[in-house]
Amino acid sequence: MFIDKAVIRVKAGDGGNGAVSFHREKYIAAGGPDGGDGGKGGNVVFVGSRDMNTLIDFKYKKNFIAENGMKGGTSRCTGKSGPDLVIKVPIGTIVRDAESGQVMADISTEEPVIIARGGNGGWGNHHFATPIRQIPRFAKPGIPGEKFNLQLELKLLADVGLVGFPNVGKSTLISVVSAAKPKIANYHFTTLTPVLGVVKVAEGKSFVMADIPGLIEGASEGIGLGHEFLRHVERCRLIVHVVDVSGCEGRDPKEDFEAINKELANFNEELAAQEQIVVANKADMATDEQVEEFRQFVEAKGLQFFVMSAATHQGVEPLVHAISQKLDTLPPIKRFEVTYVPKTVEVSEDEKWKFDIKVEDGVYIVEADWLVQVFGMIDLEDEEDLGYFQRVLRSSGIIDKLEEMGVQEGDTVSILNFEFDYIR
Ligand code: GDP
Ligand code: MG
Repeated sequence: MFIDKAVIRVKAGDGGNGAVSFHREKYIAAGGPDGGDGGKGGNVVFVGSRDMNTLIDFKYKKNFIAENGMKGGTSRCTGKSGPDLVIKVPIGTIVRDAESGQVMADISTEEPVIIARGGNGGWGNHHFATPIRQIPRFAKPGIPGEKFNLQLELKLLADVGLVGFPNVGKSTLISVVSAAKPKIANYHFTTLTPVLGVVKVAEGKSFVMADIPGLIEGASEGIGLGHEFLRHVERCRLIVHVVDVSGCEGRDPKEDFEAINKELANFNEELAAQEQIVVANKADMATDEQVEEFRQFVEAKGLQFFVMSAATHQGVEPLVHAISQKLDTLPPIKRFEVTYVPKTVEVSEDEKWKFDIKVEDGVYIVEADWLVQVFGMIDLEDEEDLGYFQRVLRSSGIIDKLEEMGVQEGDTVSILNFEFDYIR
């Protein structure tokens, strides 16, 4: 089965929490803080593979979760980072954020691309020993890894796409000019998956040809098999339109030619406007008159025309050279631009300064959803950030409320599980 669309879920690893720990040694009463940092969560990374040409692997496996970073240890030990989770996809896979439809990556090379970033590990409390805060009983939590629902779509990367009715000789042509070995048979729809072949023109010069399964009338409305495959022609730089000039199946080459072009146009106007060269195949079975009549028809449309026989190889080499020359004049394969914009969590106005404080076992516990965001932005070791954090606590009314509830110097205030000593 050929699968060229899939929806999967990916989640990068969470960063490990920083540790709260204190140095302990025999005969030394209370050592300094030595809690280590949490490890970084693993990224979810996509890598293009030339050995794959379908997304079938994603039909059954849908969830991909990278490992979390480990939490920090004692003695300033940093937690182990989660390894990256590498997902192999065929080259030509477009990765979209399913929610917005924005393009996150066009996997067109074997270069790894990070799709979901692992969260950083939180700082252990050893970072937070300052002259005024000798006993930091807090550490930073790890940041959660990014998670996405992804839409994968494969649009094969080929320079040349072969199109034409079933049985006109497309698979035979690609098997003659490249090492690709598609099924060839004298019945319709033998080619059920697009096949890519590398065509060598000269030393160091080659192009990629795609054998697109047979198009038939109505393909753009989903009749027959061709429709599913048309999107793979979209990225081709050049369409090579193969026609059976012998009409050996009782069909008229001119009608075939028009019917296929109508299908391309129905699918998408850009496809119809694509550069095209026309190949009259099965010349070994056609009369000279048949070939000449078709040649005039095609050339009258201003299109390049070639005669060949994929069976006897007659005319194949000139065609390959003509394709290569034409490609030299055409723009490169279309790549999809990344349109994804990472979103920042937004807090609505009325939620903004809402908070809740309760006292449990003498600890003042502050709860406020919006603080998660503030906390994620600041660096608690940075003086300026700390100042900013204090200002937020003050302007949001949290400090006034704490005072009102009777908080005393040195009391413990817990904000998102971090414990602070209250200092006026
Ligand atoms: P596709 O459906 O367009 O891929 O067509 P195939 O390549 O599978 O060919 C269909 C049939 O036509 C097979 O039996 C081929 O052997 C035959 N065929 C292909 N090219 C030629 C040709 O140039 N001359 C003749 N006589 N037969 C051909
Ligand atoms: Mg075929």
